[in-house]
Amino acid sequence: MQKNELLYEGKAKKLFTTEDPQLLIAEFKDDLTAFNAEKKGSESGKGALNCQISTNLFALLSENGVATHLVETIDDNHQLVKKVDIIPIEVVVRNVATGSLSKRLGIKDGTVLPFTLVEFYYKDDDLNDPLINDEHCLILDLVDDVKKLDILREKGRLINDVLKGFFAARRLNLVDFKVEFGVDQNGEILLSDEISPDSCRFWDMDTNEKLDKDRFRQNLGNVKVAYEEVLKRIKEDK
Ligand code: UDP
Repeated sequence: MQKNELLYEGKAKKLFTTEDPQLLIAEFKDDLTAFNAEKKGSESGKGALNCQISTNLFALLSENGVATHLVETIDDNHQLVKKVDIIPIEVVVRNVATGSLSKRLGIKDGTVLPFTLVEFYYKDDDLNDPLINDEHCLILDLVDDVKKLDILREKGRLINDVLKGFFAARRLNLVDFKVEFGVDQNGEILLSDEISPDSCRFWDMDTNEKLDKDRFRQNLGNVKVAYEEVLKRIKEDK
């Protein structure tokens, strides 16, 4: 399958049309952004690492009952994916308080949450992706039926259950992550976008070292080394 027209360019990926109107090619970029693109950088090979990481995790999730947009991985940094309409809600799932949650509510960084927290953020860069509740989602017409929000929450929790156990076996603590969903031509809700150290927080269970985009956000260095370590652990046979 060949790349045709550039359909969309986001912060971390480009989407191209193909000869099949229902399929797109996603190209993973080396660019890194943080704080709504106020901080920008690039790390050679990061796109390929995220493509491989996301491919492995989507395959794992698909085996565990989470339908995804991934059709196949074409090469190091390209995936063939189903064309979907992205639901403009960032579904954030948290096991441990850190980042914006700690900042907003004053919960000490690193506090294990008493239960898995699922939050919705409105995917709108101009508004800085604000936290929203179910009523906001309906008022903004982000979904046509409030039941879809329960489906997103359930899917978020299922993804967390699968990934948390998978990473725990590899001595990585899945602190939190963001996922996006899209609706395909049959109306099915599919896990879309990517799951990678750009969109998750992984803390090494033995050293507490951060192995994710916080290394870029907080200028900790060794960004690529950390992403390589995550891929290495994903590939470990357990
Ligand atoms: N996240 C993301 N994209 C965003 C916002 C958050 O992938 O636009 C991920 C982030 O990497 C983390 C989780 O969602 O794994 C929760 O992020 P948080 O709300 O704490 O935001 P931050 O501290 O990154 O501003």
